[in-house]
Amino acid sequence: MKNTYSLFLLVFLLIGLAREACSQVSLVPSQPVDPSSSYHTIYKTTVHPSTSYTLSFPAEATSLALQTEASQVLNDVYILAGKDTFLLKEEVHARETNTTGKLTSTLVIFSKPVTSIKFLSGSLSGEVVVHLLNAGQAQLDTKAYRRSQETTDCMKPATISQNIWRTGLPAPAQLPEASQVAHIIVHHSATSNNVTDYTAAVRNIYLYHTQVNGWNDIGYNFLVAPDGTIFEGRDGRDQLEEDNVLGAHFCAKNRGTMGICMLGTFTSTAPTSKALEALVSLTSWKMQKENLNPLNSALHPLNNTSASLLNVLAGHRDGCNTECPGTATYALLPQLRLQVKSQMEACQEPLAQQITIYPQPASREVFINVANDQEIRACRIYDVTGKLHTMVAGKITTNQVRLDTHNLAAGMYILHVQLGDNTYFTHKLLVL
Ligand SMILES: [Zn+2]
Repeated sequence: MKNTYSLFLLVFLLIGLAREACSQVSLVPSQPVDPSSSYHTIYKTTVHPSTSYTLSFPAEATSLALQTEASQVLNDVYILAGKDTFLLKEEVHARETNTTGKLTSTLVIFSKPVTSIKFLSGSLSGEVVVHLLNAGQAQLDTKAYRRSQETTDCMKPATISQNIWRTGLPAPAQLPEASQVAHIIVHHSATSNNVTDYTAAVRNIYLYHTQVNGWNDIGYNFLVAPDGTIFEGRDGRDQLEEDNVLGAHFCAKNRGTMGICMLGTFTSTAPTSKALEALVSLTSWKMQKENLNPLNSALHPLNNTSASLLNVLAGHRDGCNTECPGTATYALLPQLRLQVKSQMEACQEPLAQQITIYPQPASREVFINVANDQEIRACRIYDVTGKLHTMVAGKITTNQVRLDTHNLAAGMYILHVQLGDNTYFTHKLLVL
């Protein structure tokens, strides 16, 4: 009985203390303030630990991130906006690039634009920089950019290009860099699962990566929404295909990787079946394009001194210390690898009936013929380790290609054919 009374007294005292601690703080504009920027404003404020504050903004914000000294930690730091509560964590991607040298929080995307929030400072003490973002509205009908995913549909899935979803926001300043993809890395955005405007989510992530982290462009190559919509990430700027653009998403070791981000937080709940279907279709298409096997692992320079084996289809946490892509997504990876493999095989069967390869085995040369006057866009011969030996690229206007094989050592090779409709076909080729 005495213990119960003590507990009541303690709770009563704590409520009283919390009420005392709740106060309004003023936001001081950080210098210099760019008045032309309606999408990004930076403020500074000073906080005490374990204190509740109300922050009011002069204009609407659609998302927010905090930055503070690298020596601080984020424990029990909360943002309350409307009915939503957000627990802030450190964004490891931001530290990977070291552009700011600061601790940056994960992005908080509000369900609706807000002009004030409650802020529980938790472990934070001293100066905190508040980045307010306003991604505006794109008013995009994303349904128009989806098509039903059929097992026989082996072309690149429908996607929304950056110049469509980025409307009204500043373009990346620098041109993209190319990367030959050997690994696909799965992420989650660690943003609220209550966000239902997925275009807005992508626009906010774009602002966060470019404005707060100081990157040239959004970090990922693709972003997949819970309804199966696929947004293109890094912009190829008409110079590169977007799946070949070097991104910023994998432990500062991005070369050779393509990053796909599942929109939401998938720590305890898995992505929707529509999102997973879109992930499998996109991954199958890219792996067929690059002649990758989703069940394999391959060397990746994860540390500076040596290369390490990494699954061809991997999660962000396989590369460095992060929760990403969420435990629930990560647990699905073995199953997803098998689904990708079977979708790739299902795509090969109808193509196998249309393509003739002769003579087999080959000695000095090999001919590839495609039926129904389809166009052959490119042909490549890889050895079994994945090394490229022969390549005939560019537009070939005929449906027949001759490849010289007399320079190849005797052995087994992989013939890789790209057709005019951007489907890809692989076949074993024995050279004598
Ligand atoms: Zn990640």
